[in-house]
Amino acid sequence: MVIKHKFILKTENAWSDANEGLLCMDTGSWRTARPVLDKEKCNYCGLCALYCPPQCMKDMGDYYEVDLAYCKGCGVCAKECPRDVISMVPEGEFTDG
Ligand code: SF4
Ligand code: SF4
Repeated sequence: MVIKHKFILKTENAWSDANEGLLCMDTGSWRTARPVLDKEKCNYCGLCALYCPPQCMKDMGDYYEVDLAYCKGCGVCAKECPRDVISMVPEGEFTDG
């Protein structure tokens, strides 16, 4: 089963009509851990994107990628992924911020 949702917005926001974002916040700066995806294991089911609160999963055609500018590190995607594709890794293990 592949779940595709049409209304992915670029930013954290509350929306009035699912097309226009009302609010853009720098949610990526709050993060203490980031999701790391093993795209070889991903079956492109879309659940991570569906449940991601700020809707920052980018559809890459046959897998998803996280937009780290808006990912707040909540770990919902890792919990919801049925294939254990996503690991939450402490930010301190990365040198790019
Ligand atoms: S950790 Fe996952 S669910 Fe949470 S904001 Fe980042 S990409 Fe979205
Ligand atoms: S990372 Fe997991 S939840 Fe997201 S599309 Fe791939 S298999 Fe599905």
